[in-house]
Amino acid sequence: MSVVLNAPDDWQHEARAARITTAALLARLGLDAADFPAGVIADPAFPLMVPPHFLGLIRPGDPADPLLLQVLARGEEAWPQPERLTDPLSEADYRAAPGMLQKYRSRALLMASGSCAIHCRYCFRRHTDYGATMLTRARVAEALALIAADPAIDEVILSGGDPLSLPDARLAALVDAIAVIPHITTLRLHSRTLVAIPARVTAALLALLAGTRLRVVIVIHSNHAHELSAAGAAALARLRGAGVMLLNQSVLLARVNDTAETIAAHCRRLFACGVLPYYMHLTDPVAGAAHFDVNESDALRIEAQVRASLPGYLVPRFVREVPGEAAKTPLLAL
Ligand code: SF4
Repeated sequence: MSVVLNAPDDWQHEARAARITTAALLARLGLDAADFPAGVIADPAFPLMVPPHFLGLIRPGDPADPLLLQVLARGEEAWPQPERLTDPLSEADYRAAPGMLQKYRSRALLMASGSCAIHCRYCFRRHTDYGATMLTRARVAEALALIAADPAIDEVILSGGDPLSLPDARLAALVDAIAVIPHITTLRLHSRTLVAIPARVTAALLALLAGTRLRVVIVIHSNHAHELSAAGAAALARLRGAGVMLLNQSVLLARVNDTAETIAAHCRRLFACGVLPYYMHLTDPVAGAAHFDVNESDALRIEAQVRASLPGYLVPRFVREVPGEAAKTPLLAL
């Protein structure tokens, strides 16, 4: 079977085409601001980014489409939310160096990029000043020196933003520099780009991931079965072929995936794509995203229903991240 790989710059073209106005998004989908109970925000501070591939997965004419609700700035974002935070996980407290967080003893997280292929309205980093916090070229040496000096760290996590928004050459240079540190065994990437722009899986990316001595895990951040298109599934298959372990973490989002049936269908689709469901996160209290919250008692009920409808290995762990805790907190323990 021959495998068609995308031209190296296809995905960058898609990334550049992701910037879209609210008016243009609604017009493309045959919708109007009046279709949304609280209206929409014409020019939000956290701008809309919807790559053409993801846009093509949204059902035209459906204001309740679960993919649309994740990317459209609805009027609820502007409602007063005095109890909500701009840094809901207190990440500023865990900054070991510019561009590096260390929340857990054996893992270090590098904010490898300040860009994302897609802007998700529920994002807990939607207020992050990446200029001050991301890993620029000038900051790499300091962060890697800290990791090299701490043999308790065996896993480096590339996050952002989205690490797969980096060009292949920059990503390769970073991975190579990490692989030089002898006590690092595992490289983990957290990325939503694979859902938003499957063309990101270039031959150069596959060669990079297959060629490193590190064990590579990618957590793909998908929230709904509709996100996993045929093109997406093919891209994930190529990654598995390169020896990458694929996991998924989702966020439990009101009106997007807050029923057991939706979650079970998503988990089955993930498994068909060779991806194991890993975490289902409750939302973090970030300013502007309260309309995505699902309360804990509803989440517990949904979790029980999911558990009853899937084999155990397909049930994601329902958790909340609590600043200062040594690990994610299971919903049952809250
Ligand atoms: S891709 Fe991830 S980091 Fe970027 S906006 Fe979406 S949730 Fe936030």
